[in-house]
Amino acid sequence: MSAPRLLIDLEKLHHNALTLVQRLAVDSISVTGVTKAALGAPEIGKVLLRAGVESLAGSRIENLESMCRGGVPASMTLIRSPMLSQVDRVVAHADVSFNTELDTISALSLAADRAGRTHGIILMVELGDLREGIMPNDLEEAARQVLHLPNIALKGIGTNLACRSGVSPDTNNMAVLSSLADSIEASCGTMLDIVSGGNSANIQWALSGTDTGRINNLRLGESILLGREPLQRQAIDGLHTDAITLVAEVIETKVKPSHPWGEIAQAAFGEPLPSIDRGDIRQTIFAIGHQDTDHCGLLAPQGIKILGASSDHLIVDSSRYHENLTVGSEVTFGLNYSALLRAMTSPFVAKVMMKSSTPRLPAETVQSCRA
Ligand SMILES: *Cc1c(COP(=O)(O)O)cnc(C)c1O
Repeated sequence: MSAPRLLIDLEKLHHNALTLVQRLAVDSISVTGVTKAALGAPEIGKVLLRAGVESLAGSRIENLESMCRGGVPASMTLIRSPMLSQVDRVVAHADVSFNTELDTISALSLAADRAGRTHGIILMVELGDLREGIMPNDLEEAARQVLHLPNIALKGIGTNLACRSGVSPDTNNMAVLSSLADSIEASCGTMLDIVSGGNSANIQWALSGTDTGRINNLRLGESILLGREPLQRQAIDGLHTDAITLVAEVIETKVKPSHPWGEIAQAAFGEPLPSIDRGDIRQTIFAIGHQDTDHCGLLAPQGIKILGASSDHLIVDSSRYHENLTVGSEVTFGLNYSALLRAMTSPFVAKVMMKSSTPRLPAETVQSCRA
C-alpha cells in the first residue's frame, strides 16, 4: 500500500457523530457536520448524514461542490463568508451561507434571482473572538436590510468562538446570542429557525446541564473527526480519538550523534531548535515532511521521539522503540487538527477509507514539539 497514507475508519467516525448527535438532541440542539478538515470527502459526508447530522458544511465552495458531485444528499451550508467573485457558485451549491457583509448578501440576492432560487442566510455575530461577525449593536439593522432582499431568506443568526483568540463559549456570551435572537424576532416580526451557537468548542458548555437558551444548532468538525474538544484538546468521553491515523514509511535508520557539528546558521525553516548532546542515538527518517503534515501535531507511539522535520523528511529518535525499525518499516501516528488538515490537503498523502473498526493506535502516544 502506498505511504504516507491516512487511514480513515468510517465506523469510528459514525460512532463519534452519532454519539454527539444523540447527546445534543437531549437539549434540542441539531448538529451540522463540518467536513472542511476532510476536504468535503463524500464518503465522510455520507457517514455523518447516516449518523443523523441535519446538514453538511464546509468553508470553501469547492468542498461543497465535491460533496454534491459525490452524490451526498444533504442540505449544504457554506460557513465562511462567500467571496463576491464566487456568488454564482455559492447559490448553485449551497442552500445556506454564513454572512456578515450587506454587499455580499446583495450580490447573493442577484445571483439567486439569476439562478431562479432562494438562498438562505445566517448572519454571524461578533461575540469577542474577533474573527468574522457583525457587531451586536449593528445586527438588528443588518437583519432588517436582509429581510428586504428578493430571493434571500433570513434563516437565523450564529456566532463563532475559540478560533482566532481562544475565547471560550460560556453562559454569558451564549445568553447574549439568545437575547439577540429574541430581540430581532420581536423588532423585525420574523422567526429565526436557526440559532447556531458555535463549533466543537461549544460541546462542554452545551453538555454541562446549563440552560442552552435559544441555541438550537452547533457546527461540529474536530470533535467528530478526532474525538476531542478544542479548548483543552481533551478526549471526549466515549469517542474515538484514533478514527483517523497517519502511516509513514522509514527511508533511513542509523546510529548517529544526537548533536550536529560544524558552524550553525539557519535551517530550511528558520532557526534550528537547540539540541542537547545526549550521545549517540538511533536516528530514523520517515518519508514525510512539512509538505504532507504538521509534524508538531503528530502523536508518536511510545518510544519514538520526534526531533524535527524538513519539507520531505521527518526525523525521530527511535532508540527506545520496542521494534527494530528497518528501511521499509511503517509506523502509525495519531494526529491533531493541524496535522490532520495538512495531511488531508496534501496530494502526496493517500486517503484510505476503511469500514472495519479495529484498534489503530497503542493507547499511549506522545505529542511532539512539547519536549
Ligand atoms: C471550522 C468551523 C467550524 C467547525 O469547527 P470545529 O472546531 O472543527 O468543530 C464551525 N463553524 C465555523 C464558522 C468554522 O469556520
